[in-house]
Amino acid sequence: MDDYNAVTCEGMAYTLINTKPEPRAGAGVSPSALAAGQGLVDGFARRVSYLRLSITDRCDLRCTYCMPERMTFLPRKDVLSFEELDQLVTQFAAFGVDKLRVTGGEPLVRKDVMELMARFARHLGHGLRELTLTTNGTLLSKYAGQLSAIGVKRVNISLDTLKQDLFASIARRDSLGDVLKGIDAALEAGLKVKLNTVALRGINEGEIPDLIRFAHERGADLTLIETMPMGEAETDRVEDFLSLETVRADLAKRWTLTDLAVSTGGPARYVKVEETGGRVGFITPLSHNFCESCNRVRVTCTGRLYTCLGREDGADLREAMRTDPSGEKLREAILGAIAAKPKGHDFDAARLASPASPRTMSHTGG
Ligand code: SAM
Ligand code: SF4
Repeated sequence: MDDYNAVTCEGMAYTLINTKPEPRAGAGVSPSALAAGQGLVDGFARRVSYLRLSITDRCDLRCTYCMPERMTFLPRKDVLSFEELDQLVTQFAAFGVDKLRVTGGEPLVRKDVMELMARFARHLGHGLRELTLTTNGTLLSKYAGQLSAIGVKRVNISLDTLKQDLFASIARRDSLGDVLKGIDAALEAGLKVKLNTVALRGINEGEIPDLIRFAHERGADLTLIETMPMGEAETDRVEDFLSLETVRADLAKRWTLTDLAVSTGGPARYVKVEETGGRVGFITPLSHNFCESCNRVRVTCTGRLYTCLGREDGADLREAMRTDPSGEKLREAILGAIAAKPKGHDFDAARLASPASPRTMSHTGG
């Protein structure tokens, strides 16, 4: 889910906060037409029903593909307050967005996170159909029960390896034990779990079948993710990049993979592993075009709306909220950005070494 470039993270923060997107040639849809009651439908007739919202850029891990060890986090005043986050969610729900995924950074490190989640949860059944979370799992053993109690039904947990040493080297923190406890706690709390694994050539490549078995034995799906050219990481993305076509071909030698027709409106394609009965998803943003069915937008913890993962198009919703308490500017900003949602992304495998986007995934939320 959810980037790094040659500038410092602080620099990135300023890019996020201060840069307005270039106006793009719209696709012939006026914001007023959008507001007329059809919900958020963009110029290519795609209905936006899914919001991924980052509630913090902070994290207790430092995954090498995601952020540098010496990450400079944003000043607190730049990050949206609980009231602002709540206002955003309320507005998107009023516009017909019915699925909210909370992410980060690591969402569970935000102070009083359950108070915020409970505020979001009050929209369940009143606009929101689903409230979910993407987490690294380190704090899940503390929060899984409370999440379930407020109406969260499923969580995505990132897990790149089951080996303690390798975990400590990928995440730069020796936290595998906490993550495994978090997975157990989520399952015990009755949450449906999906594991997310970033496929890294020569690093966790050989372990992918074990990770899939681990997930399926627990009734969890597992989604494999190709590394994305976003922001500044300290690893060599070209070297780490592992094509999921290769992974899939290897898995097909071991297991019977049946293509599934499920579409989430996102970049994942799913197969069923007949021998385990579980599902494996492949997120291949660099090698396949998934944009024609895209139903989602992202908002960073600074209130920057991005209408496409690999591009800069969007709007500054924080400015809209802070300069107009009536909420009118916020509505206009959202509608204008959706009307101009680009047709497709700019990722290109040939440009892996130079990021398509200066945002880190921890800013955007994967
Ligand atoms: N901290 C939480 C976590 O790790 O699940 C939520 C945020 S994290 C940015 C969301 C997802 O993005 C994780 O599954 C992570 O592995 C993935 N991710 C981060 N940087 C990435 C990159 N450069 N390419 C592909 N996936 C990335
Ligand atoms: Fe933190 Fe998630 Fe990024 Fe890892 S991938 S450093 S857990 S935000």
